[in-house]
Amino acid sequence: MAELVQAGSAVIEVRGLTKSYGDVPAVRGIDLTVEHGQIFALLGPNGAGKTTTVEILEGYRSRDGGTVRVLGHDPARQRKRLKSQIGIVLQSSGMDRYLTVSETVAMYAGFYPRPRPVDQVIELVGLEDKRDTRVLKLSGGQQRRLDVALALAGDPDLLFLDEPTTGFDPSARHEAWETIKNLAVLGKTVLLTTHYMDEAQYLADQVAVISNGLIVAEGPPATIGNRDRARARIRYRLTDDAVPPADLAGPPGPDGLTELVPDDLTTALHRLTGWALEQHVALTGLEVIRPSLEDVYLELTGGPAEPAGQASPAPASPAPASTAPAGTARTGTGPGGRKGRRRS
Ligand code: ATP
Repeated sequence: MAELVQAGSAVIEVRGLTKSYGDVPAVRGIDLTVEHGQIFALLGPNGAGKTTTVEILEGYRSRDGGTVRVLGHDPARQRKRLKSQIGIVLQSSGMDRYLTVSETVAMYAGFYPRPRPVDQVIELVGLEDKRDTRVLKLSGGQQRRLDVALALAGDPDLLFLDEPTTGFDPSARHEAWETIKNLAVLGKTVLLTTHYMDEAQYLADQVAVISNGLIVAEGPPATIGNRDRARARIRYRLTDDAVPPADLAGPPGPDGLTELVPDDLTTALHRLTGWALEQHVALTGLEVIRPSLEDVYLELTGGPAEPAGQASPAPASPAPASTAPAGTARTGTGPGGRKGRRRS
């Protein structure tokens, strides 16, 4: 029997997870805890081991070592039970584009033992006005909402979202983000993978960075990698020949901005702005910068994250993601099928 999942309790618990493909070690000892109601983001460069980890959690891939509990089940041994309790949103579509929104949701609801009423699901993702619209006539953002609706059709406790906004234009991304945020309000737990730092920053309660099969940092986006405690930088540009106090001066960089990393930010800022006011000098472009999530990510992984919206050429209307209902949408994808259906 699955354990009762309550607020504050772990929905996913992973200890010492390992997986190799032949002699390629993909996951080399991962520990992970995802609490009920959390939106948890897995970040990491290509080939880091994110998909392997997620597929093991979903019960679609076997593991070599370690313990895994998802909603109280071992996905390797209780896959069937687990399937009715999880929703999975992949990146490429498997749905019939000539069906209407409500027909599509009803079809997916039919795969589950205790589906959520179709109208309720449609309302949850804000597609009431498109109830009778064919899938092919939906905008990219609306299609993504439908993807999430399909994942919600079986009223799952846990949703897996695979790079939920890759290739989206900015407005479709923001629509998708709102829908995902609302899942937490419903008490759902969400595990998502993403290459976008702004997405993780906006959506996630907790972030884990995977690099080379290991988790190299974990924490809330605001504090991961001690970014909240990192020393801030002051940047400013002088518009005339005024010379600030020596310890606040410096040669301008290529962008014309002088950069300081003071020991005491408040004092330095106070002295710099006080001097500028006294001297009637403008400090154009004055800014205080702390390391962003992207800075921390780069330091941890030694590589660039995807700039927002540029993971792949953004189509005007993005290809819809697919939602795999319990054991149906994956039929025929084979052991490596999930990967084969990814865009990135
Ligand atoms: P991406 O961001 O590109 O999707 P990822 O973090 O999801 O990457 P994985 O797909 O888990 O990474 O891959 C981890 C490692 O395992 C990589 O070295 C990859 O080449 C290898 N790998 C993944 N799937 C297979 C497979 N079916 N057979 C052999 N090697 C694989």
